[in-house]
Amino acid sequence: MNIAVYPGSFDPITYGHLDIIARASEIFDRVIVAVSINPGKNPLFSLEERAEMISRECANLKKVTVECFRGLLIEFVREKKASTIIRGLRAISDFEYEFQMALMNKKLYPEAETVFLVASPEFSYLSSSIVKEIASFGGDVSGLVSRHVAVKLQEKYRG
Ligand code: ADP
Repeated sequence: MNIAVYPGSFDPITYGHLDIIARASEIFDRVIVAVSINPGKNPLFSLEERAEMISRECANLKKVTVECFRGLLIEFVREKKASTIIRGLRAISDFEYEFQMALMNKKLYPEAETVFLVASPEFSYLSSSIVKEIASFGGDVSGLVSRHVAVKLQEKYRG
């Protein structure tokens, strides 16, 4: 069984993430979306809120499960007996950080490979940060995130 882990902050999940998840689930037997705590990024949504939104969006994808992890990604990958780490690549600007992470993870746990899926052109400009910025000013985020996520964003910024 070929298990892939797709880690990220998902603060919140966008159509760009969902595109990567759907494509990964065509390739692997199981895809575990792994939501990281990532306190460094000072997330807008709690870990539980982020996981709940992803589970809802992926309900129709039978091979996909959602889990949260704390600590080192590679320990989570080992624990899940996964062979692959999935990451999405949007632009050259993603590359340097992703390259460093992939090499470091390979050094820490050579049994797993990092596989990059290139962002679909229609989502290559899309990030959780830009969605939050638009939502914080009351802008329209339909077409970037699901209606459910858009409502959650509205609630956060209204509150
Ligand atoms: P992280 O904090 O780990 O970068 P993100 O939630 O920002 O978490 O991103 C998780 C993964 O999804 C990363 O590999 C990122 O490059 C990828 N990703 C984010 N947005 C998109 C998008 N629009 N299209 C394709 N991949 C994306």
